[in-house]
Amino acid sequence: MLQIEGLTMRYPTGDTALTDVDLTVEQGQVIALIGPSGAGKSTLIRCVNRLVEPSAGTIRLGGESVTALGAGALRLMRRRMGMIFQEYALVERLSVMENVLSGRLGYVGFWRSYLRRYPQEDVDEAFRLLERVGLDHMVDKRADALSGGQRQRVGIARALIQNPDILLVDEPTASLDPKTSRQIMRLILELCRERGLAAIINIHDVPLAMQFVPRIVGLRAGEVVYDGPPAALDAARLTDIYGEEDWSGTTRDDDPAEARDAAHKVAASVDAPEIQRAAGS
Ligand code: ADP
Repeated sequence: MLQIEGLTMRYPTGDTALTDVDLTVEQGQVIALIGPSGAGKSTLIRCVNRLVEPSAGTIRLGGESVTALGAGALRLMRRRMGMIFQEYALVERLSVMENVLSGRLGYVGFWRSYLRRYPQEDVDEAFRLLERVGLDHMVDKRADALSGGQRQRVGIARALIQNPDILLVDEPTASLDPKTSRQIMRLILELCRERGLAAIINIHDVPLAMQFVPRIVGLRAGEVVYDGPPAALDAARLTDIYGEEDWSGTTRDDDPAEARDAAHKVAASVDAPEIQRAAGS
């Protein structure tokens, strides 16, 4: 589904954000990208849809090169990538419904959306999605009247109405309380499963990532230093990613047998050699 090879990003300031990153995401596979601040997580996600232009490397989505596309073709390609943001990126004065429908912008063209004349099937789909994310009672509310969790649900519905192949999710829970964060992660994972959608979720909350996401990719200083299931992410591997720290309470080291079983289960269910290696199968 998504193949990243040799991805390198050097900003004009001289900062090297990514060095020779290889990463493959299968159809329907969800990965959590973890790592300390400045490790390159946001840069990686932004290179995939070329909000940031990579310095080197190739990115392919469904076999088609993203890195080689001209402006027009890139616009079409971006329809296939739904983005979900930490700060939601909603238009505050517009309604929930209008915000969701703005996800169809890439399809209906600027003037039609400006005049708010979306095709009926888009409106119907927006209703269905709002019902699915639990906001069908709020379609006419203005975005600025919503709580953080409700805003993120609108952001999710807006990404899904694009009918994407992959979700690029940048710190979806960083502005939310712990309970809402869990609800949002659960919802994203459920929706990916229902729709066979792949996702890359950039997340700094390691326990949350480990609880919900079957494949964790750890970045440190722009390089992949871990790629495997949460159960195999022990204190030593967390130290590889983040540096020295007391990790008790974060890992599943308390019961090594259980951790090993879980790791094997995940590895067996995913056809990805790097995961199977990490799980020791
Ligand atoms: P993360 O998302 O893991 O916190 P980032 O991708 O934001 O990491 O940053 C990776 C590195 O790239 C850091 O050294 C950061 O300072 C640098 N960087 C990020 N964005 C820019 C930018 N727009 N201009 C220059 N350097 C940047």
